[in-house]
Amino acid sequence: MALGERLRRLWRTAWRRWRLRRGDPAAIPQALWERVVAALPLLQDLSEAERQRLRALAAAFLARKRFSGAHGLVIDDFKALLVAAQACLPLRHRGLPALAWYDGFVGIILHPHEVRAPRRVTDEAGIVHEYDEELAGEAMQGGPIVLAWPRVLGAPDGQGVGHNLVIHEFAHAIDMHGKPLGQPADGCPRLPDGWLGLQARAAHALWRQTLQAAYETHRRRVVMHEHFGGPAPWLDAYAAQSPAEFFAVSCEAHCVDRARLAAEHPRWTALLDALFAHPQAPASAAALPAAVSDAAAP
Ligand SMILES: [Zn+2]
Repeated sequence: MALGERLRRLWRTAWRRWRLRRGDPAAIPQALWERVVAALPLLQDLSEAERQRLRALAAAFLARKRFSGAHGLVIDDFKALLVAAQACLPLRHRGLPALAWYDGFVGIILHPHEVRAPRRVTDEAGIVHEYDEELAGEAMQGGPIVLAWPRVLGAPDGQGVGHNLVIHEFAHAIDMHGKPLGQPADGCPRLPDGWLGLQARAAHALWRQTLQAAYETHRRRVVMHEHFGGPAPWLDAYAAQSPAEFFAVSCEAHCVDRARLAAEHPRWTALLDALFAHPQAPASAAALPAAVSDAAAP
């Protein structure tokens, strides 16, 4: 290749990366963007303005992250953008500064199928159980985020029912952002300065109390359903595993069907609204739905 042509290519690559980095939506080719929107019903429900904001975020996200495929899976622009668009969906109202929530890692690994991970747990009687767990995804402190490619395209039972693997794993990353190394996700992410007009300590206490109350309510409903024939809660039963999983599953639900989540957990949903700067977020803590409504809701 002639030197002139090589320099032109280098320049084009550098120019594209610079446009991606600063969140220029046009840095994502129109045809590619349309293909991703067509593949994700969630994106079709957004307003055009929201989709443009998301496209800008996805561009900046792609410039900051490094994708790789396991077991020979080839990563192309479509696969990477499909992940980027879903990962950025919760951040669409906060915009580019919120991408810092994902600064704790760079790598994203796509597997061609679900991953078997060896697990070893000791029960209360001191008996050690060893088993393999099928993992659709995993988020670790410092990264990488691991995702099973077939699940990136949608849950086996179809999208739109409250599940989204990509949002789930990136919610764990939001939870771990700013935590000291070794401190596991606990459902309490770092809250933005002045969140709901509160001092940091009060904001954290409000978050923790509301999370705990909503989590306990959900656990109770799951037990009532599984053992006593009560109605099944809409929020996935997996959320009853731990406060960290409750937060991650709630983030999925908040993006997929905010109204359904709000019907089950109004106060908790309002906190998520405030975290993600949703247009329906309360202006201050005083405007939150009452604490009792979680327990009273169906
Ligand atoms: Zn999880």
